[in-house]
Amino acid sequence: MSGTAKILDGKDTAKLIRADVRQRAEALRGRGIVPGLTVVLLGDDPASAVYVRNKERSAGRAGIEGATVRLPADTSQAALLAELDRLNADPAVHGILVQLPLPDGLDAEAVVDRIDPDKDVDGLHPINAGRLVTGRAGFVPCTPAGVIRLLDRYEIEMKGRRAVVVGRSHLVGKPVAQLLLSRHATVTTCHSRTADMAEHTRDADILVVAAGRPGLVTGDTIKPGAAVVDVGIHRTVDGGLTGDVDFASADRVAGWLTPVPGGVGPMTIAMLLHNTVLAATP
Ligand code: NAP
Repeated sequence: MSGTAKILDGKDTAKLIRADVRQRAEALRGRGIVPGLTVVLLGDDPASAVYVRNKERSAGRAGIEGATVRLPADTSQAALLAELDRLNADPAVHGILVQLPLPDGLDAEAVVDRIDPDKDVDGLHPINAGRLVTGRAGFVPCTPAGVIRLLDRYEIEMKGRRAVVVGRSHLVGKPVAQLLLSRHATVTTCHSRTADMAEHTRDADILVVAAGRPGLVTGDTIKPGAAVVDVGIHRTVDGGLTGDVDFASADRVAGWLTPVPGGVGPMTIAMLLHNTVLAATP
């Protein structure tokens, strides 16, 4: 039996965001500003190389000048920081992103801290994290921002509703919870030490799963009619992609559901482009 959940279509929503970015980028170009995004890539990890190529291509299509600084895997911390200083000072570079994870031996926190917070289009700098918590304008991490945009696109009410976030990483879980809170949801965060996770997820009107565990959430632990957003991405043995939510069983219970692929994934890159045009806007 196929399911009944309506699809939260990230592919289509990302297309709308990219069209909006293209318009904003054109308007900026009309004012003599060419939005510029520079990705710093260390080493030759094939998965990272694919991500970076995609980012550059998507940027170009959206009217953003995408550049990649490729550095060898044995680049020293001092040399990497010096490169970031150079990019921070370059007025043609509006957004800077360092592709993570970094090769062993480099201190990722110190690297993120070195990016000018106003060029930190990934939203990972502690100043941007602080801005998010205190409700000030700043860059919001792309995946969490994409989750909220997806809920907005389908007019899923957040105000006054129970939201559960599974995962508390700085990259996804915590900022998603913060954003849901800022939209007046009542938010619970679950993590690996949560005693009875199902007790919480069964109560959630909105359930965001970012645990990095394939198939962790199944239909029997979802509230009927809930909006379920699956952030997880895992490669399957047959070369496909799957998420943290068991799609088949969730599809029979949820009201709304993201597919993997085609859910949160495309939203992340669209929000990166969105953040870059914001960074370029005086
Ligand atoms: P992460 O840093 O590994 O964090 C995972 C979080 O999940 C941790 O807070 C962990 O709890 C919690 N967790 C792990 N196992 C759990 C369990 N059995 N029950 C409850 N909570 C559990 O991962 P992340 O960077 O947030 O990413 C999460 C997933 O999203 C990954 O699959 C990643 O590939 C994917 N992702 C996708 C995109 C996208 O564009 N779609 C972007 C980023 C990440 P503790 O804190 O207690 O360890």
